[in-house]
Amino acid sequence: MNRCVNCSIVALDAFLCTNCTAVLRADLTSAEWLANELDVTLTRQSRTAAPNVGYVHTGSDETPLPFDERASIAAALLRNTLSTWARDATESRGLVYDGDTTTAGIARWLRGNVDSLRQSATVGELMDGVASVVRDSVRAIDARAMKIFQGPCHAPTAFGKCQAELWSHRSEPIILCVECGASHTWTGRQQWLDAIIENRLLTAAELIDAIYLRRGIMLQEKRIHEWAYRNRLRVRGKTFDRRPLYRAGDAFKLIRKQERASGRR
Ligand SMILES: [Zn+2]
Ligand SMILES: [Zn+2]
Repeated sequence: MNRCVNCSIVALDAFLCTNCTAVLRADLTSAEWLANELDVTLTRQSRTAAPNVGYVHTGSDETPLPFDERASIAAALLRNTLSTWARDATESRGLVYDGDTTTAGIARWLRGNVDSLRQSATVGELMDGVASVVRDSVRAIDARAMKIFQGPCHAPTAFGKCQAELWSHRSEPIILCVECGASHTWTGRQQWLDAIIENRLLTAAELIDAIYLRRGIMLQEKRIHEWAYRNRLRVRGKTFDRRPLYRAGDAFKLIRKQERASGRR
């Protein structure tokens, strides 16, 4: 009796049961959509002037990657995985590749041939591979999709200062207020917000949030303590329970210095 290579329930006619086949189909649909999204992201990113929009945590606590690098890695991985399996299908299943050359096209072609692919003993690996690159691509795109709080609008209106909250993506040079319609430039807003937070004393955990929100860089707490240990970041005070406090402006300055040193401004 045949069992599904993915979930082990009885699969009479193939190596993959009907449910798992539906999952694979859905993942390939996602892969197609993600391939297009990553394309759009990368084209837009290469046109924008600021190369350091949106840093993304890479999984390790080491050097953060700029968002466009993260997206291009995800895009390459997606393409690589899908084309490997498409090639495998032409060889092991005798299928003829008649899709187009884009990553989205390869995903579409695989989806169109799922009925043949599920007859292959290696379909479990294909399923895992596709699921894993889909996850990575979603993460890369999520990083772009995340909106960041930009403080209250405060534009003058007939009723006083506008109290609406501003939210925007990192890649938007102009932030529009949905309440009063005022427009704020990204750079102007950043300076305004930095000035507010600059002199705050924060614990390592709070500082990590601030760095992520203000600079788009995700660090781990141990990095902050490491900076302090190496005297690169001064401890400016202590909380009542003796946790060190750091000045946000000091950390921002240090990060700017590091970015300059690594060639990114
Ligand atoms: Zn199954
Ligand atoms: Zn407003």
